[in-house]
Amino acid sequence: MNVYDSEQIVTSLKPLGYKITSSLEKAGLIIVNTCAIREKAEQKVFSFLGRLSRLKIKKPDLILGVGGCVAQQEGSKMLQRVPFLDLVFGTHAICRLPGHIKRIETKKCRIVDTEMIDGIDESAFVIDTEDHRKVSSFVTIMQGCDNFCTYCVVPYVRGREASREPEKIVNEIRELVNCGVKEVTLLGQNVNSYGRKEGLCSFAELLSLVNGIEGLVRIRFTTSHPKDLSDDLIYAFYMLEKLCHHIHLPVQSGSNSVLKRMNRKYTRELYLEKINKLRNICPDIAVTSDFIVGFPGETEDDFKQTLDLIKTVEFDGLFAFKYSDRPNAPASGFSHKISEREKKDRLMELLDLQERFTKKRNESLVGSTELTLVEGKSKKQSGKDAQIEPRHIQWTGRTSTNKIINFSRSDDCIACDDIFTGRMVNIKVEKALSHSLMGRPIEVEPIFDELVKGQIHQVSGAKC
Ligand code: SAH
Ligand code: SF4
Repeated sequence: MNVYDSEQIVTSLKPLGYKITSSLEKAGLIIVNTCAIREKAEQKVFSFLGRLSRLKIKKPDLILGVGGCVAQQEGSKMLQRVPFLDLVFGTHAICRLPGHIKRIETKKCRIVDTEMIDGIDESAFVIDTEDHRKVSSFVTIMQGCDNFCTYCVVPYVRGREASREPEKIVNEIRELVNCGVKEVTLLGQNVNSYGRKEGLCSFAELLSLVNGIEGLVRIRFTTSHPKDLSDDLIYAFYMLEKLCHHIHLPVQSGSNSVLKRMNRKYTRELYLEKINKLRNICPDIAVTSDFIVGFPGETEDDFKQTLDLIKTVEFDGLFAFKYSDRPNAPASGFSHKISEREKKDRLMELLDLQERFTKKRNESLVGSTELTLVEGKSKKQSGKDAQIEPRHIQWTGRTSTNKIINFSRSDDCIACDDIFTGRMVNIKVEKALSHSLMGRPIEVEPIFDELVKGQIHQVSGAKC
């Protein structure tokens, strides 16, 4: 969601003449987009701002702004704490950002805008129609959260849950597809409750509408709350050919007593039942999750139940975090806090255990052929192309199950060099690493459109 917000910030400032630079020293405007989900993320913001202050001494005209959840949470306190800061803008203020920047440019004033609105302000969603390089794009379908999990700061910094109208979402995706986007990830804190409050269609129905968009190849979504994962949505994995076979379903803990105190509103048994249903409907579905270790009062036995759940489900991957007190979140007032040492030990034990399953699930794909959407040259190599022979260039993409897969062009590949980006390629998996796969391209999707337009010449059939 923060990546998406950063993109919105960049797009909204383009009409003012701002362009992205990779050099902090060259920048005339620096916006720090912030995350408040854990204390560590928040601390990083302040240490980074300290570094930026030194730049401002050297270059007094530099405009420094802070946006996102920490800005929303701290508001004007940030201006006091960081004397060089020009602007603090909250999670609902991105649409007003260009106006604020203009005012700062001309009036040299300092601005705080942490106003929040109920419902959706459609002007907050802008897309860069000049950007034709993106293969995959985020699309916000809802904002805020009403779930109030007791550890979580999100409802306080992102406001109440509100869903965008399906027509607006579909139109935005159509525009993105016209710009060359092949895959969208629908975003919300709990997409499973999409539209419920406003009486719009259900999330499963929205997926079905998006599935009908011509030119769109893949659909992903995040995040799903287990309590709202409906049978209709589970069935969508069988029905909708564009819906990728991956679900991120944060469970947080394997202990019913901890889940209750987290206010998650489901039990371990219900979670396992949903996983079974998903795997019955879609046997190759990849399941990933989030865990919090060391929630206040988490006993050794609670933690064992978490490990046991991991062994039962055998997730494809997971994110695990040490519990961190957050302002306003009720759990920060709970007793029986777990020591940092204990949280660290539990985190290591959990990650060690999962490592086995991540590897096991990746290894189970060796020998299979995975239809992959290629995102581009692998990061390690972009920028060095001049020295690399085309057949040695490493490409990267994702399988439907959201595994990263890297590959090089086969020696006898007759396809031209830039053929892979944005294409569906069948890749034979040859090797499983701990967090990615390596393979060999076998077949590129038919590329008739481009052939007709004469943009691709070096093709006879689409075999590699
Ligand atoms: N809306 C999503 C999660 C958003 S926050 C959902 O409900 O799944 C992303 C993850 O951060 C959460 O799933 C949780 O595992 C973690 N998290 C949230 N608050 C936390 C806290 N106070 N301490 C540690 N981890 C936290
Ligand atoms: Fe936070 Fe819970 Fe809402 Fe997710 S569902 S954003 S964890 S309050």
